[in-house]
Amino acid sequence: MDQTNQSEAASSGFEKAAGAQPGAGDGPIVADSVQVYSRNIKGTFRTIKWSAIWILLGLYYVAPWLRWDRGPNAPGQALLVDMPGRRAYFFDIEIWPQEVYYLVGILIIAAVGLFLATALAGRIWCGFFCVQTVWTDLFMWVERHIEGDRNARIRLDKGPLTFSKAFKKITKHIAWMLISLATGGAWIMYFKDAPTFTVEFFTGTASYNLYGFTLLFAGTTYILAGWAREAVCIYMCPWPRFQSAMFDEHSLIVTYEEWRGEPRGKSRRDADFTGRGHCVDCTMCVQVCPTGVDIRQGQQMACIGCALCVDACNSIMDRFNLPRGLITYDSTANQVARSKDQATKFLPLRPRTIIYAAVMLIAAAVMLFSLVSRERLEINVLRDRAPLFVRLSDGGIRNGYTFKVLNMERLAKTYTLALDGIDGATLAVIGIVKEGATSATLPVKPDTIGTFRVFVKAPRRSLPEKSMDMNFLLTDQKTGKVYPHETVFAGPGR
Ligand code: SF4
Ligand code: SF4
Repeated sequence: MDQTNQSEAASSGFEKAAGAQPGAGDGPIVADSVQVYSRNIKGTFRTIKWSAIWILLGLYYVAPWLRWDRGPNAPGQALLVDMPGRRAYFFDIEIWPQEVYYLVGILIIAAVGLFLATALAGRIWCGFFCVQTVWTDLFMWVERHIEGDRNARIRLDKGPLTFSKAFKKITKHIAWMLISLATGGAWIMYFKDAPTFTVEFFTGTASYNLYGFTLLFAGTTYILAGWAREAVCIYMCPWPRFQSAMFDEHSLIVTYEEWRGEPRGKSRRDADFTGRGHCVDCTMCVQVCPTGVDIRQGQQMACIGCALCVDACNSIMDRFNLPRGLITYDSTANQVARSKDQATKFLPLRPRTIIYAAVMLIAAAVMLFSLVSRERLEINVLRDRAPLFVRLSDGGIRNGYTFKVLNMERLAKTYTLALDGIDGATLAVIGIVKEGATSATLPVKPDTIGTFRVFVKAPRRSLPEKSMDMNFLLTDQKTGKVYPHETVFAGPGR
């Protein structure tokens, strides 16, 4: 390691905000916090992290552009939440507002999945997949390409304001803003046809709402990923506060093997490590940390479990010909076992992981079953309340209903409506059949709600009670499937 790094690193790997000159608006976003200048590092976890980031970003930006043919009069976007049409589309699956419980199911599966991942692999979500981590890493990647790695950035911030410094700062912030704009715009594309929105956006014909929301999401991205960064994880996010409840001694976490590392001290490469710890106090683990944590001080809430310090320390161990894993991504049980020279093991099957997995599987199975067996028709009947019933001149009793058929298919449907449960009852449907009919044919357009006014007449002798149970029977004329719908017929009683 070069001397500059070592001396800079000796001040615990980050610079006090007061010591760094604000450049193009840079500086800590929270009072008393420190400006973190994380250093680039190569290694296994960094590679995994880059892979996760590019895949997730690719999915996010590309997914709204995927097309899906649903036939005429239907959106051709594979993933779309159509707010005006009150519909959500996921490839071939179409979710109506009445089916919002699917969203609840997805949230339950996601939450329990997060519990399971945490119990197995600690803060793997925070370190590798969380949107804050992904976008912050992207912004830091841009920053590194424009301003240089850690030492260059520290020098730049401490140095006077020159043309070169201003140029770098402005370029960085313009790049961040463009990414933020693309991020905000991509988010809107999940709610509006992507090609249409893009054309409208750049030709100035999009609505003020769309411009407003795009700028809102762009601004949020710019602030959270560009400025707030680790402060979001440390001060704003509630997840670190209760995730430790999912840990046990077999959960994989990033830890420093103190029993092996201490007593620490500076060292030469060819030094004899007998009688001393393997930590050479290079602070590389702190320099690469995106949240400025010194993991040698033990587990901390600010540690997001990204394991970059593992890569950093392994690279140092390699240089000193010492065994890797002084900082390790392993369970505390294995750490203890290693310290006693005992065998280590990974125990993925434990009561809590089995329970989480079982809950997830049950929720997923229920969702899947209800999805494949769901009806694409819904009946809604509203009985007239005022008046409850009408006495007719021939002695019969009449009730009025508003009968709604929700046809969720993209095919026109024809149904036969009939009655069951009251002897001699007949019906009339306004505009379709007159009073005295025993059935009526109801046409319903594709993907709409058919609304019909239905009057049911029953002879007085068939109504011994004030309230009689009755069924509307709706038959799909094409498939022959009958959809009964229970309702009530009101009369004067005996
Ligand atoms: S733990 Fe490893 S990376 Fe950190 S200071 Fe010690 S030797 Fe260096
Ligand atoms: S301490 Fe290590 S694992 Fe934790 S956030 Fe810092 S670099 Fe990542």
